[in-house]
Amino acid sequence: MSGLLGPAEVRDLAERLMVNPTKKLGQNFVHDPNTVRRIVRLAGVQAGDRVVEIGPGLGSLTLGLLEADASVLAIEIDPRLAEALPTTVGVQLGDEAAVRLDVVLSDALEVRDFTPPTGSSAAPGVLPVRLVANLPYNVSVPVLLHLLEHVPTLQSGVVMVQSEVGERIAAAPGSKIYGSPSVKAAWYGDFRVVGKVGRQIFWPVPNVDSVLVGFQRHASEPGDADLRRRVFSLVDAAFGQRRKMLRQALSGVLGSSENATATLERAGVDPTARGERLTIDDFLAIARATA
Ligand code: SAM
Repeated sequence: MSGLLGPAEVRDLAERLMVNPTKKLGQNFVHDPNTVRRIVRLAGVQAGDRVVEIGPGLGSLTLGLLEADASVLAIEIDPRLAEALPTTVGVQLGDEAAVRLDVVLSDALEVRDFTPPTGSSAAPGVLPVRLVANLPYNVSVPVLLHLLEHVPTLQSGVVMVQSEVGERIAAAPGSKIYGSPSVKAAWYGDFRVVGKVGRQIFWPVPNVDSVLVGFQRHASEPGDADLRRRVFSLVDAAFGQRRKMLRQALSGVLGSSENATATLERAGVDPTARGERLTIDDFLAIARATA
């Protein structure tokens, strides 16, 4: 038993499994135990926590979570990687750790049920309280929003994403990078960039920089699923044409530019403003003014 995966173990494993990392699946594997322990620490993982990890890959982060005595639900799209993970954990950390791991072979965006699969050693029906993942970069925002939507028990987490995407998720109103991911994330909780990650800790080395984004979920959400859908469609419309004034950008979803002006006025939002100035509360006020 040798613990976490360093560069030699990552290379050996990939060779044995005949894994040729693909860009399409965002396969850049972490081979630095210090970074893994840092992520687990920043995520505040406690012994006994049920953690969901999307894209465990060769197991670098999974091993760090299990080393911290968490129980892990790992969802991986690549069959070779999903199949090999329990064996890797057994070899690196022993059988006691391997029984705390459940692996689901699936596209994370297709999963709706996050309870333990049949045969799991976790308590029946238990749902994850933390999300800790090095997310596949091409689907990081949809995956994050999907998890927040479908796992109501998620309280907090840390995800590794491409720098630009992480800065965008955590951006405040008024900045150039504030956009639809920022507002949608703010529906669920507080998001901030909690660290940077160098390129050299990955194999293969990616051609983008990465950051760690931490979040704390709000104690309660601003409204139900129906209100959330209405808010999100206003957000998509506002940022789909972000250079246009709101009365114009929202004319499609609100019927006409006149209707949009009237609704915005009822909501107390300036019809000549642009989406990038609006907080989640402003979008909520507009959605409520349409009802
Ligand atoms: N967690 C590992 C690590 O830190 O070394 C691997 C991270 S790698 C950036 C992303 C992983 O997500 C890959 O293992 C890839 O196969 C997997 N993946 C890509 N798209 C996915 C999806 N839609 N659902 C689940 N897993 C996915």
